[in-house]
Amino acid sequence: MLPFSRVAIIGMGLIGSSLARAVREAMPTVRLTVSDGDADVRARVLDLDIADDVTDNAGAAVVDAELVILAVPVGAMGAVAAEIAADLAPGAIVSDVGSVKGRVLADLTAALPGIAIVPGHPVAGTEKSGPDAGFASLFRDRWCILTPAKEGADSARVSAFWERLGAKVEIMDAAHHDRVLAVTSHLPHLIAYSIVGTASDLESVTRSEVIKFSAGGFRDFTRIAASDPVMWRDVFLNNREAVLETLGRFTEDLVALQRAIRWGEGDTLEALFTRTRAIRRSIIDEGQDTETPDFGRPH
Ligand code: NAP
Repeated sequence: MLPFSRVAIIGMGLIGSSLARAVREAMPTVRLTVSDGDADVRARVLDLDIADDVTDNAGAAVVDAELVILAVPVGAMGAVAAEIAADLAPGAIVSDVGSVKGRVLADLTAALPGIAIVPGHPVAGTEKSGPDAGFASLFRDRWCILTPAKEGADSARVSAFWERLGAKVEIMDAAHHDRVLAVTSHLPHLIAYSIVGTASDLESVTRSEVIKFSAGGFRDFTRIAASDPVMWRDVFLNNREAVLETLGRFTEDLVALQRAIRWGEGDTLEALFTRTRAIRRSIIDEGQDTETPDFGRPH
């Protein structure tokens, strides 16, 4: 039996449109209503034929949905929740896909008193934005972390929904999620934004040289640093404490490396690089990336 037969998705960007496609593919009988504020995006969603109804009004999209998923930037979750509050059907569950969970749980709880809330974060994405960037298999074999205030029948139904889309589900405390993702996602993005910014500001190396010789490692940072500016602005503003804590630790480790280079401590460098190579091996062994060199991207 399907966990839900009527689903609404608010926001038809990369994640919202991927969800729509995945629902269409995995649960074709589900009635899917979606909303987006941008007329061009709505027209595109109609062309792509990935939803049953497309509207510009979030409230109208949710009226008879059993599951509502907010797929907008983290900083917009509270306002969108307030916009749909009066239109939710009795018994509806509200979830989301935001990359930060503590703040979203607090904002949804404040905007939707008495409503079942099961925050979620599919740990899957790309650096692209918008409905054309989405694809149905995005969540397959990827983790989706749910952070309900308490586990129960509602979180079990949302878990079953994600599992139908091919995802693996883990339930976690929202604050713990934010600490884990600060390390695995938020800090790496911050480092990439920073390195790419630094390289483009250097005076001794020209910008055309940076682009021409980018295959030396820089290019992989540029992919991450091409991620959506609004989404990432909101991630850092809303996961401030965990990011700053992780950044503090990272800065100390970086200074230790700086020292090792200055004092010619080759053993220190080699020991770290050997350890990090083993971490890469574990990621491949767990199926979270492939062994193809350079992530298999043609260039
Ligand atoms: P996206 O492609 O840029 O799409 C953003 C969507 O949010 C669009 O539908 C946009 O509407 C809407 N939106 C933007 N600002 C809004 C506002 N102030 N009020 C209401 N709607 C607004 O972004 P995305 O990558 O799908 O990200 C959506 C969510 O998924 C974010 O919370 C993000 O943290 C999370 N997430 C992203 C990734 C990833 O890798 N990208 C992975 C996991 C989770 P318009 O069409 O009107 O602009």
